[in-house]
This record gives sequence, structure tokens and C-alpha cells, in this order.
Amino acid sequence: MMRLSPFTYLAPRTLAEAADLLAEHGRQTPTMVVAGGTDLFPNMKRRQQEPKVVIGLRGVPELRGISTDRDGWTLIGATTTLAQAARDPHLGQQYPALAHAAHAVSTPHLRTTGTLGGNLCLDTRCNYYDQSYHWRKSVDFCMKRPESNPAAICWVAPGSPRCWAVSSSDCAPVAVALRARFRLVSAAGERIVEAGDFFRDDGIEYLARRPDEILAQILLPPTDRSWRTVYLKLRRRGSFDFPILGVAASVKRGNSTVEDARLVLGAVGSAPVDATELAQSLIGAEPTTEAVDAVAAQAYRGARPLDNTDLNYAWRKKMARVYVRRALADAARLDLHHDSGQVGAALL
Ligand SMILES: Cc1cc2nc3c(=O)[nH]c(=O)nc-3n(C[C@H](O)[C@H](O)[C@H](O)COP(=O)(O)OP(=O)(O)OC[C@H]3O[C@@H](n4cnc5c(N)ncnc54)[C@H](O)[C@@H]3O)c2cc1C
Repeated sequence: MMRLSPFTYLAPRTLAEAADLLAEHGRQTPTMVVAGGTDLFPNMKRRQQEPKVVIGLRGVPELRGISTDRDGWTLIGATTTLAQAARDPHLGQQYPALAHAAHAVSTPHLRTTGTLGGNLCLDTRCNYYDQSYHWRKSVDFCMKRPESNPAAICWVAPGSPRCWAVSSSDCAPVAVALRARFRLVSAAGERIVEAGDFFRDDGIEYLARRPDEILAQILLPPTDRSWRTVYLKLRRRGSFDFPILGVAASVKRGNSTVEDARLVLGAVGSAPVDATELAQSLIGAEPTTEAVDAVAAQAYRGARPLDNTDLNYAWRKKMARVYVRRALADAARLDLHHDSGQVGAALL
């Protein structure tokens, strides 16, 4: 059985107190915040992350709940659980893709404990990293967690100067497609960052969040019925697993033509990949199957999956085409006479 190493647990009651504790302890000793703990505690058991001080956010009321402001923005507290986000009537009506992505995370048990903020701050994953300490030691570690080997390499791409661990959050690509913003709070003040700038294409430094910052709120811009956003997830088992591909597609329809379109791919790089440029070829015309197929073909050509997540990477590349086609067609309200059931994996 894997056990946690000893650590000090602090339970602030306000956001200001949490930020002060993070600043104070973080200066002297490895310190992290925890929300649901569904990612951090397993990682600590595998010695992938080893904070000596852990600051729990679940006792901070300001970080919970979903509301709207005067300008029509929706504000989601970072410790809102995935289960709450998945069943919230306002999110379900206005941002169904986000509610759906939250519902697609893992199992009911994890969604009851895991939070939206924790999902967005999720550590990047890799077959050579998400292993026990002894497994990693047997290969002399990797550059994401070199531990006793400062010369540790990337086992996925041994000649590579960078780490290729994968962003595997279901909600992250949807947040980017919705053009969400994140409110980050520290003892030094606060700032708002665009979701697209929050995620960094680096398996080790995967967030633009500073170590002393707490993700406090997710801000969603007002939306209307002309937009439709869809999230499709590919994984081994529909009831449980991390995504090996997530596609968030948004299409804004005018009377008959496409006015705007966005496309973001998850679980294919160290950050969600914003492929909106490809989807924008749909703008100005009536959406057709052929136009959607052309975007999907380009996404297929550009996809470079690595052999560091579940299932075969050549197959995952092929599935990029299938899932982009389906997601864009659904977002554009096109009926493709779905050929689901032939892909050998769960389509959510
Ligand atoms: C078996 C299993 C299956 C899983 N399947 C999926 C899946 O299908 N899809 C998926 O996306 N995820 C999956 N997960 C990962 C995880 O359960 C979820 O992503 C969950 O939403 C994480 O939220 P949490 O509150 O538990 O995060 P925590 O474990 O509390 O934290 C995760 C990370 O975020 C940081 N953090 C948390 N909250 C904040 C905050 N407010 N501000 C700053 N940093 C913060 C923590 O320091 C930590 O680094 C799975 C996990 C397991 C164990």
C-alpha cells in the first residue's frame, strides 16, 4: 500500500487567510493548496509532488458556488465540485459543454469530491511519470521529476530538451473554447488571466499561475443561443478514464451562415491546443458536411500524438479526424447521420 509522507495541513476560513498562509509558508518550504485532493493526494503517495505544507481550500466559503454579475458574466467559485457544476441548471442551460465536460470526469465518487478549480490546475500526465516511486526509480526517473538524477531525460522523446507530459483535464479545452477568464488571488493582490494564457505548452511549467496564487473564480462571458459549444471525449472506458482526446467546438450561427467558430483540442499536448484558425474556414458560408470534413482533415494532418498516454498513438491520430468532424458538425447543428459505435471507444 502507498502511504502519504508526513505533512502539515492548514485549514484557512477565508480567501485572504489562505493567500497569506500560501505566501508565508511557500517562502520557506514546499507548499501547495489542495481542493478535493483527488489528484494531489495520489500524486503525493507516488512521491510525484511532495509538499511539506498543504493548505486546504474547502473551508473557504468565498470559493464556492455559482452566480452571475450585472454584466451577465457567470462566476464559478474554484472549489465548486464537478458534480455541482455538472448538475447546475444555469450552467446546463447557458454552458452545457462545460457541464458536460465536468460530468465526463472520472466516476461519481471523484466528481463529488473533485473541484472545477482542481481540474483546471491538474498536473500534466505521462506514462513515465504517473507511476510509483519505485517504478520511476527503476528507470532512473524522468526530467519532469528528476529526484536523485539531475541528468534525467524525457523517456517519451529521449533527445528532447523539454518534457511532453500531457494536459489531461476535461474542462480545460472547454474553458478555452468559451473564452473563460480566471481570477487569481495572492497576498500581493489579484489579476485576471484569459484561459488561453493560463495553460502553458510545457509538461513541467504547465500553468501561468505563480506558486503563491490561488485560482479563486472561473469567469464565463455572457452567451446567447446563436452559439453552440460541444465537448466530445475519447477514452478507453466510458465510465472512468482520463481523456486521450477531448474536442471542444463552438459555432456561432447567423440566419443561415456561420458567423464565428472555435476549436480546441485537449489531451494532445502539454496545454489545450487552440485550433480555432482551422475552424474559421467555416465562417461566412452555410455549414456543410464537406466544409466540416475539410477542417477535420486538416486537424488530422496537424495532429502529432506521442506515445505517452493510453492506447495506440497512430489510432489516436486517426480519431482526431473523427472527433473533430463530429464535434464541429454538432456545434454547427449539422446532421451527419452519426456513425457512432464503429469507433471502439466511448463517445460522450
Ligand atoms: C482514477 C482517476 C480518474 C480521473 N479521471 C479524470 C478524468 O477523466 N478527467 C479529468 O479531467 N480528470 C480526471 N482525474 C483527475 C482529478 O480527479 C480531477 O481532475 C479533479 O477535478 C481534480 O480536482 P481536485 O479538486 O480533486 O484537485 P486537487 O487534487 O485538490 O488539486 C489538483 C491540483 O490543482 C491544484 N489546485 C487545486 N485547486 C486549486 C486552486 N483553487 N488554486 C490553485 N491551485 C489549485 C493543487 O495544488 C493540485 O496541484 C482523475 C483522477 C483519478 C484519481
